[in-house]
Amino acid sequence: MTAVIYDELGPFKIIEVYEPSVSLRGTLVIDNVARGPSIGGVRMAPDVSTGECLRLARAMTLKNAAADLPHGGGKSVLYGDPGMPLKQKQELVRAFACALEEVEQYIFGPDMGTDEQCMGWVRDEIGRAVGLPRELGGIPLDEIGATGWGLLHATRVACDFQGRKLAGARVALQGFGAVGTHAARFLAAEGAVIVAVADIGGTVACADGLDLAKLLALKEVNGNVIDYPAGPGIVTGDADSIIDVPCDIWIPAARPDVIREDNVDRLQASLVVSGANIPMTPGAEQILHARGVLCIPDFIANAGGVICAAMEYQGASEGAAMEIIEEKVSYNVQRVLDIVRKDNCLPRQAAEEMAVRRVRRAMALRRWSVF
Ligand code: NAD
Repeated sequence: MTAVIYDELGPFKIIEVYEPSVSLRGTLVIDNVARGPSIGGVRMAPDVSTGECLRLARAMTLKNAAADLPHGGGKSVLYGDPGMPLKQKQELVRAFACALEEVEQYIFGPDMGTDEQCMGWVRDEIGRAVGLPRELGGIPLDEIGATGWGLLHATRVACDFQGRKLAGARVALQGFGAVGTHAARFLAAEGAVIVAVADIGGTVACADGLDLAKLLALKEVNGNVIDYPAGPGIVTGDADSIIDVPCDIWIPAARPDVIREDNVDRLQASLVVSGANIPMTPGAEQILHARGVLCIPDFIANAGGVICAAMEYQGASEGAAMEIIEEKVSYNVQRVLDIVRKDNCLPRQAAEEMAVRRVRRAMALRRWSVF
């Protein structure tokens, strides 16, 4: 059993659902709803856990507050292989939505293992989902790369802070899915050199830069990045070897806790911009900070997706959503880095204090306020 830690913010509700007839097992954590109904993705994987869900839900509280959205934080996890036959996946996602129909303080969104189509099924069942397909009035945030777009702006502001140019900077990305592909695309368009990419199948690297069009073509046919054509300077390795690649900027865009105390010494970058949620343990982040490596926290850098989802919820257009993502992410990263410069604190600490202050102010307006 996961030990739940209750603090001044939450968690507000933890709901476990189980329906053996459709092999449904899942968990919903609503962390805090002081700023409004919680928005957070449904993560589908065979090895998810309540502990992961609790941490991700808190990250959403902070992310939504940091982005100044009128939403609290929540997250759900659904046990299962996201690559299962579509008919079975549809049954499972629909069953999960129905099991949580009454919980109006949670608005479903996409996350790892789920997508716009899944949100379409949820909306069809219970009418409460964001990240919908275009046909349902949604802004397909993974298709347009909302999170990758935000990561570009977070990286740009961080590069300015470090006094380096984004053009020519060497970037390595762990994860080449919805977040990783678009981040690579936007960064390469600004002149960054993509020197390595990893997905679950392995890592491909080239010190002179990889050809993004070739990488994206592999994704088109559901290939792995290690199927990249062999050539001078092309090196392949297992998925974990992305950590060892010499680069300036390292972008985690896969799973939680990939950088830990036991492997942090292998990381060679001087800037880490977190696309994935909770990709580093707190201890590893401390070690990197002490080494002078700037780490832009997940909930500030990867807020593009949820900003887009909240804009969709308010009926905004795709263009307006992308403009707001650029504005909010750039502003928040700059604010955090201003505090870091002034107080010489960890960027995560500066960002958390800013977000928690906003949640506290919202909590103070509630009937049962203790502040
Ligand atoms: P995705 O499922 O589209 O892609 C995940 C990628 O990670 C795939 O390429 C997969 O092969 C790779 N991967 C998985 N395990 C790996 C490993 N051990 N080593 C290397 N690569 C590995 O997921 P996504 O939507 O791109 O999300 C990635 C991360 O970003 C997650 O942590 C998610 O919570 C976070 N995130 C996503 C969004 C969004 O808009 N999609 C927004 C904010 C945060």
